[in-house]
Amino acid sequence: MPKPLVIKADDDEVLDVELEEDFIKANERMAALNRRTFDRAGVRVVDFMGSIGSGKTSIIERLVESLKGKYRIGVIAGDTATDIDAERVSRHGVPSIQINTGRECHLDAPIVRKAAKKLIREGVNLILIENVGNLICPAEFPLGSHLRAVVVSVTEGEYMIKKKADIFRSAEVAVINKKDMSGPMGIDVGALVKDALDANPKIRVVVTSARTGEGIDDLAQALGL
Ligand code: MG
Ligand code: ZN
Repeated sequence: MPKPLVIKADDDEVLDVELEEDFIKANERMAALNRRTFDRAGVRVVDFMGSIGSGKTSIIERLVESLKGKYRIGVIAGDTATDIDAERVSRHGVPSIQINTGRECHLDAPIVRKAAKKLIREGVNLILIENVGNLICPAEFPLGSHLRAVVVSVTEGEYMIKKKADIFRSAEVAVINKKDMSGPMGIDVGALVKDALDANPKIRVVVTSARTGEGIDDLAQALGL
C-alpha cells in the first residue's frame, strides 16, 4: 500500500482564529470559490468535525466501505502532526491525503483547496474531509463543503453537546457515535439527541456505532449519499 501524501502547512498558511476579521472573511471567500470548483467538477464534499477520539476516522472508514461501490471516494484528513488517519483510510483502497496543520487546530479553505484539487485530478466524485480534532474553531472556518457533520461520542460525557452548542449550529448533521458504549457509560442517548436538537432544531441527528456498523446506512442517507 503506498504511503498517503502528507501536506504540511507553512507557519503562516493555516489562518488563526484570533487574527483579524479579515482573515475569517478571506477564508469565507476561498470557501465560496472551493464550492464553485467542487460543483463544476461534480464532486460532493462533506466536512466531519469533532473531538479527538470521537470516532471521525472510524466513521469515515465505515462510510468508505459502504459507499466505495457507488462513488469514487477521496479522503482529506487534517491533524496537527501525524499521518495516522490518512494511513488508516488508505487501507480501504481509496486515495487519501493527510494535511498537517502544525500549530493550528483547524483546517482552512486554502489548504483544503490544494488537497481537493489533487483528488479531483485523480477523478474522485466524493470527498470526505476529517477536520482537525477540536470542537471549537473548525466551526468558524467553512471549507466549501456541501455539508458539515459534527461527531460526538457518548464517552465524551453527558454535557458535551450543551457545552459546545456553537459547532452544532454550524452543522447540518450530528452523529452521536459509540452507541455500544452508552450502557457501560450510563449515558442516555435520547438526552444527547435532544441536546443536539435544542442547539440546532434543523440538524439531522444520527446515532451510530462505528465499531459495530450500526447506523452507518442511516448516516449515509442523512448525508444524501
Ligand atoms: Mg481521526
Ligand atoms: Zn483552530
